[in-house]
Amino acid sequence: MFVSRRVMLFLGLIALILLVLSLFSACSEKSNLAAQPQTTAPVAEQPGMVPDMEQTDTEQPDAKQPEQIGTKQIAPDPVDCDYFLEGGTIVDGSGDPPYPGNLAIKGEEIVALGDCRPAPGAKIIAVPGMIVAPGFIDIHTHTENYWAAKGDGLMILNQGITTHITGNCGTSVNDISGFLLLADHKAINVGILSGYKNLRRLFAADNKKVSPDILEKMKKRLNAQMTAGSFGLSLGLSYYPQNQAGFEELVSLAQVVKNKGGFLAVHIRDEYSGVLKAFEEIVNISNKSGVSLQYSHIKAAGPDNWNKMDELLAKLHQAQGSGTDISSDVYGYTWSSWDFGTKQESIAEENVIKALKDPLVMVASDSGLSAGGVAQHPRAYANNIRILAHYVRDQKELSLEEAIRKMTSLPAKRLNLEDRGLLAAGKKADIAVFSLDDLRENATRLDPNQICQGISYVFVNGGLSLDQGKLTGINSGRALRKPKQ
Ligand SMILES: [Zn+2]
Repeated sequence: MFVSRRVMLFLGLIALILLVLSLFSACSEKSNLAAQPQTTAPVAEQPGMVPDMEQTDTEQPDAKQPEQIGTKQIAPDPVDCDYFLEGGTIVDGSGDPPYPGNLAIKGEEIVALGDCRPAPGAKIIAVPGMIVAPGFIDIHTHTENYWAAKGDGLMILNQGITTHITGNCGTSVNDISGFLLLADHKAINVGILSGYKNLRRLFAADNKKVSPDILEKMKKRLNAQMTAGSFGLSLGLSYYPQNQAGFEELVSLAQVVKNKGGFLAVHIRDEYSGVLKAFEEIVNISNKSGVSLQYSHIKAAGPDNWNKMDELLAKLHQAQGSGTDISSDVYGYTWSSWDFGTKQESIAEENVIKALKDPLVMVASDSGLSAGGVAQHPRAYANNIRILAHYVRDQKELSLEEAIRKMTSLPAKRLNLEDRGLLAAGKKADIAVFSLDDLRENATRLDPNQICQGISYVFVNGGLSLDQGKLTGINSGRALRKPKQ
């Protein structure tokens, strides 16, 4: 009895202390809030410091509304713009849910987004209920011959794509700066990677070993190519002669890429039974050189290896979790270019879906186009639309905003393109407008060169490049060079 009363008294005392403490902390939170303008103002007044947006707001207590809420801009005054997309559904590329809003373009840039209205003189395009998204960025293509020739980009713009990165799987051009001159002012933005095969062939015959002397020459050339604007180095380690490249040689080349702030795009040594070991090799190259990795077209190819996909994705996350800067990409088909001439499907659809759902995996086509625009595989004409129509709309395997993130901000981040991949004021106006219900992927395995339907408008650097599905021919694309560090 006596003991329990002491216990009750003790508990009561504890409760009282807790009450006092909680009151005190609530007050201090309030007083912190109240004190905020006073604590931020002196910081802004320090010599040499530029006040940021938040501090500017606190210095103008009479401002009507905050100018920005997240990426949605609220501009009560009419916006001076060239184009005004009215009444759309904004999917901004970040992965955030869609929201209704307008979008204003002036020159090459987005100038307002959300609840805004145009100043007189703007061309107004009504897009009621249509998706307004950043133009898609395809980080893995083999289209250098197409863009170096007179590619008009009809099949590309009709997928909402505004940027191609070419020169993948170790096959690129020898003259990066020459290519970038040719690729400027095309239908879309075009960037390129250096190719391991090209570098090797500049200095050694296919059947020769890369000597230390030759390796030095390759490194020097790679360095020069990256200065010219190459985004990094691509490898196709399962192809001859690239499959002769040894670990130390690749680490050495990767260090050049790392020092220039680029990334290594790798088609790994074995995508079949040895896929897990081949994946470990590229992680080791990254660990030893510090290079950022783009693991190209993730797959566990061949029915005997389909059960390796879970472990492969787990290893991707392990690598990322232990500090390797790594991401991957996938295309939306169950057959690769190796399955042509057969009825074979070397990739399980279940695994395509697993890759598509993985947050580290972006969407990329692995598409090839001849100089004349002919493709073997339908992915060149339809990959992005297949993802949106088949996997998002019909099968509901992933959300629209996540699919669009994988086509926009995720590749932009790998490429360090800070001004693309998101809809926000100040970003380049690369924009795709479409209604999800209208999308049709027409290219098939037997008939791969069919144009998709359903993309209504595409802007490239603020230029209206596709108008109601038709080319305007303005060619406002830019050759993209790796941003300087
Ligand atoms: Zn490849």
